[in-house]
Amino acid sequence: MPKIRLYVTDDLTAGGAAALDAKQAHYLKAVMRLGAGDEILVFNGRDGEWRGRIEDLRKKGGALAVVEQTRGQERGPDLWLAFAPAKRGTPELVARAATELGVSALQPVTTRRTVVGRVNTERLRANAVEAAEQCGRLSVPAVLKPMALDALLADWPADRRLMLCDETGGGRPVAEALSAEDRHAPWAVLVGPEGGFDPSELDVLGKQPIVTRVGLGPRILRAETAAIAALACWQALIGDWREAE
Ligand code: SAM
Repeated sequence: MPKIRLYVTDDLTAGGAAALDAKQAHYLKAVMRLGAGDEILVFNGRDGEWRGRIEDLRKKGGALAVVEQTRGQERGPDLWLAFAPAKRGTPELVARAATELGVSALQPVTTRRTVVGRVNTERLRANAVEAAEQCGRLSVPAVLKPMALDALLADWPADRRLMLCDETGGGRPVAEALSAEDRHAPWAVLVGPEGGFDPSELDVLGKQPIVTRVGLGPRILRAETAAIAALACWQALIGDWREAE
């Protein structure tokens, strides 16, 4: 079974073809020393994973012959990560780790204490694609348009639960808080910026019926550590880590 996995956008069907972009063609040819006749795995987030045979690799791109399906499309957990990108922290690290941890979407959020001006969503996406290729998942999380917290809440889907990571001690221990929660609902995890949430934001959030306020232990975690820890807790207590492989 080929080891290299690449994300493509074309439909994948037996006997069909899939295009590779210039960066992928360069990676396969110059880095992995592959060529016509060699095989890789491809996925597009819709049709599962397929074995593909390289037809040609050129400067502007390449072509694959789609041979055989190796895995059917699986639906991962419906889980968003809403995070306030931190200056010192690396949003890219959060995008990669959240992809490995199985999120279905990344929602950059600006809050009162957010210090980062512009979020580079293209770079978040590129990191999510790379992480999806490496961790064996069959989809790439959506990277949603950055939104201000109040606008996000105003437009929040009524059925989606929100796990609020609250470092001020206002939340219940995460295991206790999630133990009685609806495992079948769509969820989101919300993590604040370096400077934390403004008390008025915690106030508004605390009044939302969709919100479950949690504590992630007695130490103040960096925003990226909190995001990774919170997603791991959610997967272990509610998500697909509960299922035997
Ligand atoms: N400026 C805050 C402080 O010094 O108190 C720290 C904010 S922390 C770096 C960034 C975010 O991580 C917080 O807004 C919260 O969402 C999350 N976080 C960090 N530690 C946490 C904890 N022990 N429990 C729950 N959430 C935590």
